Amino acid sequence: MAAYLEDAAHTPGGHAPSVDFATTEGEVSWALRQPGAVLPVGAQSSLTGGATPMGERLLSLSRLNRIGAVSADRVRVEAGVALLTLEEELRPQRLLYPPTPTFRGALLGGTAATNAAGAATFKYGSTRDWIRALTVVLANGEVLDLERGAVRAHPDGHFEVVFGDGSVGRVPLPRYEMPRVAKRSAGYHAEPGMDLVDLFVGSEGTLGVITEVELRLVPDRPRLLGWVAFPSEALALQAVQRLRHASQETWAAGDPRGIDIAAIESMDRRCLELIVEDGAHRQCGVSIDASQDTAVLFRAELPPGADAASAMDEIGAVGDPGCPDTPLVRLCLMLRELGVLDSLEVALPGETRRAEQLVALREAVPMAVNHRIAAVARNEPGVRKAAGDMIVPFERLAEMMTLYREGFTRRGLDHALWGHVSDGNIHANAIPRSFEEMRRADEAMLEFGDQVLRFGGCPLSEHGVGRSATKQRLLRQLYGEDGIAQMRAVKAALDPEWKLAPGVLFPRA
Ligand SMILES: Cc1cc2nc3c(=O)[nH]c(=O)nc-3n(C[C@H](O)[C@H](O)[C@H](O)COP(=O)(O)OP(=O)(O)OC[C@H]3O[C@@H](n4cnc5c(N)ncnc54)[C@H](O)[C@@H]3O)c2cc1C
Repeated sequence: MAAYLEDAAHTPGGHAPSVDFATTEGEVSWALRQPGAVLPVGAQSSLTGGATPMGERLLSLSRLNRIGAVSADRVRVEAGVALLTLEEELRPQRLLYPPTPTFRGALLGGTAATNAAGAATFKYGSTRDWIRALTVVLANGEVLDLERGAVRAHPDGHFEVVFGDGSVGRVPLPRYEMPRVAKRSAGYHAEPGMDLVDLFVGSEGTLGVITEVELRLVPDRPRLLGWVAFPSEALALQAVQRLRHASQETWAAGDPRGIDIAAIESMDRRCLELIVEDGAHRQCGVSIDASQDTAVLFRAELPPGADAASAMDEIGAVGDPGCPDTPLVRLCLMLRELGVLDSLEVALPGETRRAEQLVALREAVPMAVNHRIAAVARNEPGVRKAAGDMIVPFERLAEMMTLYREGFTRRGLDHALWGHVSDGNIHANAIPRSFEEMRRADEAMLEFGDQVLRFGGCPLSEHGVGRSATKQRLLRQLYGEDGIAQMRAVKAALDPEWKLAPGVLFPRA
């Protein structure tokens, strides 16, 4: 059992009487008809404690893992299929399921339950945008097959669900207004006339167990990963702004020669120091020195047919008279104008090993932070990660970065800022050296939550709320006690016995 008693948030105190491994929808239904509370789990990569049992029976979806027939634009998969497995299935057919979180071991059911998002949200949106249909087993064991577009909320703001015994459940919808940002994983989705599919996406296991999802697919395009270092954060943000703008223009005009960026990740100076302290840059073959303040890792999509040789030729020709006008050449010219072309490290289309190295360099940052916190926790049990997952409109990001730093520095906290910069979604991480510092970092998160709201952002962007006390407080900051009461009413209508994932998102009372 031990392996199932905590998730990636390492929330202490996890306990459960048993774990059931469902292999069919019928077994999920059976498990829910048994007495007692149930916590559905996928890969338990939750960063919020949402997949840590607190006395519930665990229901693992990991063995419900069949992939249905793949067509040019869709696939139906069971909830226990891992993102990595789906990617491997789709690769030979040159198809892509784009809205994947950084952790590819997550299961499709878990990503739907948390409305996961990732680096490529900038171009492709979050999981919600890619779900065409889903099957969900309700707390009483009944099965709902939902197709997007088939069931919409009544104009007065409720859904009607007809149960097997003929009774009709009325599910009232929350009335709060959600922040208008690129991604949100902040309690129940609510908007006038919404689709019933959207109520379950992002509901973190509290309204039903997702057993199958039908996903939209797109053709996979040749891609180039680029690592660029900047002498200042201001210049890095200027570059991100220009890349965002150029890509948006390309999509709007359908320009085949335009710059087309799917994702940009950033790492601040402290992140680069952590990489150097741990020697990760040497392992990944990238040089980092003290003149570099901020690095970004971008993913550019190239026209169909582009390969390593054509990309190399284009990069070599940049600036030559008669150099071709291609997306990659335009991209390099922009980096040259910004004075950073010399620092560009690339993984050309098809250079899988090099791409893995550049991604590993980005991943070395959270790993460095986690190792340091784990070392502190060995002496002071209870010390854990204290990180924000907040998003602001990109135009306010520079101000928000200043506020993150000011809030940490004022509390004497070591910190590092990195994340999905193309969305304005930076993970502000404290690196606490004691329990007291962790407490101060949690306090900083609540202050940041207020500031993010004032900027029109959302304090809960992609990881969800789970059982984290800080994130549950941020959810209350966002929608107020009244909003939480409205979510409780949704929960009570679909799960009157509070059987599913009790205590996730909000307490019962
Ligand atoms: C290194 C690392 C990087 C990460 N990067 C990202 C990122 O870029 N973006 C991002 O969004 N997240 C990220 N995450 C967080 C995590 O991977 C996502 O939240 C993911 O969607 C969780 O999937 P899972 O299968 O692990 O679900 P779990 O962690 O097992 O469960 C998460 C929640 O969903 C519920 N749940 C799980 N399966 C089901 C189901 N079938 N039906 C109903 N409810 C269910 C659980 O009860 C729980 O509340 C990262 C995590 C790690 C460890």
